[in-house]
Amino acid sequence: AVAMEATRIRARHSANGKTSEQMEQPAQWGRAWEVDWLSLIAVLGLLCFAPFIVFYFVMACDQYQCSISQPLFELLQGETTLLSIWARTASFTWSAAKIYSIWVAFQAFLYMYVPDVTHKLIPGYVGGVQDGARTPAGLINKYEINGLQCWLITHALWFANAYYFYWFSPTIIFDNWIPLMWCANILGYTVSTFAFIKAYLFPTNSEDCKFTGNIFYDYMMGIEFNPRIGKWFDFKLFFNGRPGIIAWTLINLSYMAKQQELYGQVTNSMILVNVLQAMYVLDFFWNEAWYLKTIDICHDHFGWYLGWGDCVWLPYLYTLQGLYLVYHPVQLSNPHALAVLLLGLVGYYIFRSTNHQKDLFRRTQGSCSIWGRKPTFIECSYRSADGGIHHSKLLTSGFWGVVRHFNYTGDLMGSLAYCAACGFGHILPYFYIVYMTILLVHRCVRDEHRCSSKYGKDWKRYTNAVPYRLIPGVF
Ligand code: NDP
Repeated sequence: AVAMEATRIRARHSANGKTSEQMEQPAQWGRAWEVDWLSLIAVLGLLCFAPFIVFYFVMACDQYQCSISQPLFELLQGETTLLSIWARTASFTWSAAKIYSIWVAFQAFLYMYVPDVTHKLIPGYVGGVQDGARTPAGLINKYEINGLQCWLITHALWFANAYYFYWFSPTIIFDNWIPLMWCANILGYTVSTFAFIKAYLFPTNSEDCKFTGNIFYDYMMGIEFNPRIGKWFDFKLFFNGRPGIIAWTLINLSYMAKQQELYGQVTNSMILVNVLQAMYVLDFFWNEAWYLKTIDICHDHFGWYLGWGDCVWLPYLYTLQGLYLVYHPVQLSNPHALAVLLLGLVGYYIFRSTNHQKDLFRRTQGSCSIWGRKPTFIECSYRSADGGIHHSKLLTSGFWGVVRHFNYTGDLMGSLAYCAACGFGHILPYFYIVYMTILLVHRCVRDEHRCSSKYGKDWKRYTNAVPYRLIPGVF
């Protein structure tokens, strides 16, 4: 993902042909149109290696008790071979294919055919039909926001099955984990390839397509901005926010059930991982309308990066802590558990409050109160691809006056809490914090390139007013 983000920044630079500082007001909204050879190598490398990274972690748990060094060590020592690792790996099964197909079809059904009623029942929740952000071509798409409802129905059914109907074992996900991985890969590649072909043959909005002339880059980063089938089946919202993220909490519940089955008890570390990650997932669904304004939805094109990433990378690598705890049932001391809980809660508070402040500020056009005062901001303007000039504001008070991406800092604190819940016995559960740090630091740099290109010298005024990105005085 990091290389993908770096790739995009490079491509964007060569497309603009000049640095953001050289741009005049109002700034053109920069987009990638050319790909240099370094970007191409990164794209090819990722297309080839990202699936192996996922495989490696899952295989390490399945065959080596979650040791990530042992397989390499044995391979180097000649004690095992790639072929014997492959021979020990569970293969594709039709029963996993059936489970996976039912899962994705059920989520598609909920997404498409069960209009949101939760916003009528739960005060403060924003659901139903909502506007997305303006696309580079100047369009504003409509979305049916019903993610919270889908999550609630799915989990109600999960618990109804576990405690009442007994149609299937709650350990079903863990028990089919590797066969399901093959199915997720099939879907990830199918969706990405379909989106790629669709962009040539029947794009949803040709004005919002981006052809760089390099098929590998286009396949990976996407051509269409908002591919849709019919009026409502939006690829980005569905794949970003449905089969993968809804599964996240179910996968954790399945790991918890497996611990119970194997050891007759559930450890406090497993409960912490389940609770903290469920909070993050629920936050995502509670704020789904807000999510329409985040980078994934309002800046990224839909390609392999989002298609495969949402189907495979997210459900398999974001849930490594729970998987690890099935193999290593860590019971934390009370102070350790309390410290993890506090770190998770404080991180979540910073993450949520920072995001909320920006959302409130943008929704009310600055007519709100941040930390009990009228917000301070910088007025800025930009030009969309249709030549239209638009105005915007950059908040400089509250958390947005402390550093430019305090939401990322909070996210990283929460991520560290998930990892620390697994104790200090192995490196594998710490993959998440390493990955998130690299991802968010790169995302921050990439976003700032985009903003700089979009807002020109207004962005410079903002960075002068708020000089640090993630940690005050450090970075
Ligand atoms: P942000 O929500 O920070 O959005 C960045 C955008 O906000 C900028 O492009 C700009 O957009 C606008 N903006 C920047 N500075 C200001 C300001 N001072 N005032 C007002 N608007 C501003 O980033 P993301 O969309 O990347 O992230 C959203 C959340 O999702 C974060 O909390 C992040 O931690 C989380 N996340 C989680 C991931 C995961 O895998 N778990 C992955 C990625 C993100 P504009 O063009 O509108 O001005």
